[in-house]
Amino acid sequence: MIAKVIVDISNSEVDKIFDYLIPSNFELTVGDRVLVPFGSRSVEGFCIKITDCSDGNFKLKEIIKKLDENPLIKPEMIALAEFMKDKFYLRFVDVLRLFIPSKLRGNKVKALQREFCTLAGEDIEALKSLISPRAKSQHAIIDRLANGGEYLTVLNTEFSPSVINSLVQKGIIIKNKQEVLRKPPVDTDKNADKVELTNTQKSAIEQINNSDKSVVLLHGVTGSGKTEVYMSLIENALKSGKTAIALVPEISLTPQILRVFRARFGDDIAMLHSGLSDGERYDEWRRIYDGDAKIVVGARSAIFAPLENLGIIIIDEEHDSSYISESNPRFRTLEVAEFRAKYNGCKVVLGSATPSVESYNNARLNKIGLAEMNQRISKNGMPQIQIVDMAQELRTGNFSVFSMEFQQKLKDAVKNGNQAMVFINRRGYASYMQCKSCGYIAKCTDCDIALTYHKEDNMLKCHYCGKRFKPLDICPNCHSESIKQGKIGTEKVVRELQNLLGEDVKILRMDNDTTTTKTAYLDILGAFRRGEAQVLVGTQMIVKGHDFPNVTLVGVLDADMSLYFSDYRACERTFQLITQVSGRAGRKDKLGEVIIQTYSPKHYLFNFVKNYDYKGFFDKELNTRQVTNFPPFTTIVRVLVTNETEEKSLNCTKKIYDCLKDLKAEYFKEFVYMQAMKSPINKIQNKYRYQIVLRIKRQFESEILGKIYQIVDNNKQGNSVFVEINPQNMS
Ligand code: ADP
Ligand code: ZN
Ligand code: ZN
Repeated sequence: MIAKVIVDISNSEVDKIFDYLIPSNFELTVGDRVLVPFGSRSVEGFCIKITDCSDGNFKLKEIIKKLDENPLIKPEMIALAEFMKDKFYLRFVDVLRLFIPSKLRGNKVKALQREFCTLAGEDIEALKSLISPRAKSQHAIIDRLANGGEYLTVLNTEFSPSVINSLVQKGIIIKNKQEVLRKPPVDTDKNADKVELTNTQKSAIEQINNSDKSVVLLHGVTGSGKTEVYMSLIENALKSGKTAIALVPEISLTPQILRVFRARFGDDIAMLHSGLSDGERYDEWRRIYDGDAKIVVGARSAIFAPLENLGIIIIDEEHDSSYISESNPRFRTLEVAEFRAKYNGCKVVLGSATPSVESYNNARLNKIGLAEMNQRISKNGMPQIQIVDMAQELRTGNFSVFSMEFQQKLKDAVKNGNQAMVFINRRGYASYMQCKSCGYIAKCTDCDIALTYHKEDNMLKCHYCGKRFKPLDICPNCHSESIKQGKIGTEKVVRELQNLLGEDVKILRMDNDTTTTKTAYLDILGAFRRGEAQVLVGTQMIVKGHDFPNVTLVGVLDADMSLYFSDYRACERTFQLITQVSGRAGRKDKLGEVIIQTYSPKHYLFNFVKNYDYKGFFDKELNTRQVTNFPPFTTIVRVLVTNETEEKSLNCTKKIYDCLKDLKAEYFKEFVYMQAMKSPINKIQNKYRYQIVLRIKRQFESEILGKIYQIVDNNKQGNSVFVEINPQNMS
């Protein structure tokens, strides 16, 4: 028999399936990890198919050995890999690598061993007769170990090591090395009682279950109780003997949902996210693989959990950009979820208070189902939102980063024993230029998209067409010279807050700098939850999903920042961000208030935000997208070519561009735009980057994409070429 093997080398030249002979003395199954001879070395590989004939007619080499007892990659995942490599234009091996913990490859993780103590015999009295009746602690240890055993590290915290040792020396206790599974730290919510579902929650669940669509969007305002809906759906899946995946956008959110989940489902849960150590990830993965964990909660990559018999997939905060992988291997989580749902005959639930325009549009078109929850659980309802004009504050002589109104409200909140959150809008690293007096923003003359300031070459660049402009020094609109570029830092905000509120007020800061260690985010959020600080200052990390009952005031500084982010989704993103962050206020018994500070208070978006008018916003945004030919009416494709040599990268781009021109001629009605350019960031990690950006009508996406992939395949010649669909980032 012959095994088709994908060798574990990521390189476009070996992105092929190789045939190997299966030696007659062992059995091989599809999905097995194997060691095979490759050139002069031996490498790991995955068997993806077994046949009885080979395509080639040269002499085949034999597989050296099988590396695990059972196949690491289950049949569903082999099928998924096939799907993903075609759909997202990926190398087979890069997809397979997503499916198993990285350290498992090359057997780099070791099972964790710890010393375990047991009694030398079962007859407790007989053992006790060997020691003096007065040795109280020795008797206590024997009683402690009577029902099984205990890890030495645990015993050491309860008894003195010398007493334990003397029992070991007498042969009454036996020490053994035992394998333990590493458990990532979580803070469980001990008071999370099971609640009675509200009628709204019940009917949402019914709508989801009764929908004839395999994907259902759960549009529920912040604080409407989506988490209970998820748990109820998961409970149902478990009851019928099935398993579940619940995805959350980011590590900082995971502890929140995990606390509640853990309280409800106990050890049935495994978690997978980037904050785990390699050992922890490996152990969690193995609990899932072995069928010991039935529910997987985690970030994007948890969609690849080796669960069998899935009963439900939940994608919480479905609008979040982290569900799209933007570096190799690039993929979209929703499409992976849809594949797995179809394979298992289960549903995908997309939850959000601010669905992506794409998803809501799909619901409108009846391509996916829709369930709605329009009211908060808390009787206080949605918090009041107030928009503050920061240019006006400047004109009246307030140069602080906080408006007068916000300063007063902050003082009040602290005085009344409530908590406040201050959100600094600092999406991405890109920055725009804006006139502080009139709010004018530098935009591309061709694309009407905000220009991004690039410090390296002191230029404003359009990320869509590549046009370059000189940075502003005088506002073309009002001739003011006070041009703002850059961002407010979290540290500066904390300093100003401390001055404002006094040194006694405790302020926590959460951003990339304060969350470098694995547990830092847990510590910060935990401290804030326990009321150890009155104010939490943070970036995007504090926006999502947190449920702090004591927060009554939320402030958004620099709300414009993401509004002029150079992305066609800038408005959508800003609406989502501000609505989500506002949603942190007044979630339990206390009334919430939100202050949004901006230099462009007249922007239409703020009216929709203030009135919690998602549908109004959606209609306006959809209309803009239609007029300007942006998604969901079109699909943006970026072909990105990189190479260490600029000339090679440029030549390859030219070749692909020429072929694409022919394609465009063939589909002249479907191509709405095409342009080749230097990437706005021309060089990353010593590789020169060129790109072709094009937009095609959505109905023809798959047909044209297939041809684009073919063109790229035929012309890449040693360059790394990536094809990105609706990328978040065009730099
Ligand atoms: P969302 O995810 O929609 O923003 P959550 O799921 O965090 O909202 O719920 C908001 C709050 O309402 C939480 O404190 C939660 O414990 C509470 N809650 C949810 N469902 C119920 C219910 N049926 N009865 C009482 N409280 C509930
Ligand atoms: Zn101006
Ligand atoms: Zn442009």
